[in-house]
Amino acid sequence: MKYVNGFKCTICNTVFEKSDNLLTCPKCGEKGILDVLYDYDRMKTEVTKNYFNSNKDFTMLRYTPLMSINLIKQETLKVGWTPLYKTNNLGRKLGLNRLYVKDEGLNPTASLKDRASLVACIKAIENNQQIICCSSTGNAASSLAGNAAKLGLKSLIFVPKRAPIGKLAQLVTYGANLIKIDGDYKQTFNASKEAIDKFGLYNRNAAINPHLVEGKKTVAFEIAEQLDFKDIDNVIVSVGDGCTIGAVYKGFYDLYNLDLIASIPRIIGVQSEGCSPFYTAWKTNTKLVETEENTIADSIAVGIPRNPVKGLNAVKKTDGLFITVTDDEILEATSELGKTEGIFTEPAASASIAGLIKLVKENKISKDDITVVIATGNGLKDQSSILSRVNNVPVITAEKLIKDIFSKCNKNEVDKVLRILKTDEVKKDD
Ligand SMILES: *Cc1c(COP(=O)(O)O)cnc(C)c1O
Ligand SMILES: [Zn+2]
Repeated sequence: MKYVNGFKCTICNTVFEKSDNLLTCPKCGEKGILDVLYDYDRMKTEVTKNYFNSNKDFTMLRYTPLMSINLIKQETLKVGWTPLYKTNNLGRKLGLNRLYVKDEGLNPTASLKDRASLVACIKAIENNQQIICCSSTGNAASSLAGNAAKLGLKSLIFVPKRAPIGKLAQLVTYGANLIKIDGDYKQTFNASKEAIDKFGLYNRNAAINPHLVEGKKTVAFEIAEQLDFKDIDNVIVSVGDGCTIGAVYKGFYDLYNLDLIASIPRIIGVQSEGCSPFYTAWKTNTKLVETEENTIADSIAVGIPRNPVKGLNAVKKTDGLFITVTDDEILEATSELGKTEGIFTEPAASASIAGLIKLVKENKISKDDITVVIATGNGLKDQSSILSRVNNVPVITAEKLIKDIFSKCNKNEVDKVLRILKTDEVKKDD
């Protein structure tokens, strides 16, 4: 918190003084999302390349002075410092020489949301609050539950009745206090809002809390550090509420203001064709309007994005763009990344890879560009959609395999075994 100057409303631009419990603009209400302002001149005296080189904390907390939190003494889950892979196999296929993937699925609860949830827990502790509340069906909730458990805090989580089973399993395991609302997501959100207001719980709802974007922006710091503060041409990320893409911009903006990088990359947001309010608003230069939520990528199925200003700004300020991809392209991209690079992503994360593939086809990425794709969540969280595409796995008894097939092949003919197994005579599982 030591370099925080104040907060600025993203709607009416009013600047507020630094305060511990201001969450949204009092004039604009819930929509008045705040941006945290820093004193970069003062920050510069501490945060230099040397500061990074000598820092031995390989978690996102190595960036504590660049965030709106104070140093925490308790041990936390080890969030951040995920690998940035130079993905040459996929790069070669796409004709790109300098392609990187940031694997955020390797965070403690397996998504980028850990970066926001850890900050929410730290802010709750700073404010002497024991119970953190949110409504979500997905990664925001599971990451909150996990990070809260480690720090001895309680989480109260509202989920809609149709919440997916994999993510519920994480919530139950991390000991969250779960309430299922017999209704849709909007009603679930309202229930959590009432609980937060009435009982004074700490609010971890998406965009409302300005500190969460400050946590998420550490992904940009890591990418910059891992690439030695070189100029990056493109960063591609999937977009739901708009907090993540806004945070990516904020991270590079901070580094630019600290004179640690010479330019801010072009930021590219990817949405699902079945749910693309940001894309439509950007394309038609209009305000965001509510859309359907028709996609398998549940983590970005957000029909009413709660962070429209920060999300749109990230693209507009960097001369970037939004694109959309279909569910089929998302599943295709999941396999493509899996088989070329050994990285398994959930559909919302695969969307950014699908976006990359589409941009290459449309000649919107040059072969020598430095391009970074952020893979926001782990594929193990949502296995059903990718499994729905698998329908040709051979099933055979071991006896039949050895007697009827192996016997027909010579020592160097394992390929022939696989060919025979593909034929119609062998039963297939689906
Ligand atoms: C939340 C999430 C996103 C999108 O972030 P927003 O802040 O909602 O735009 C993308 N991918 C995954 C895996 C997520 O959990
Ligand atoms: Zn305002």
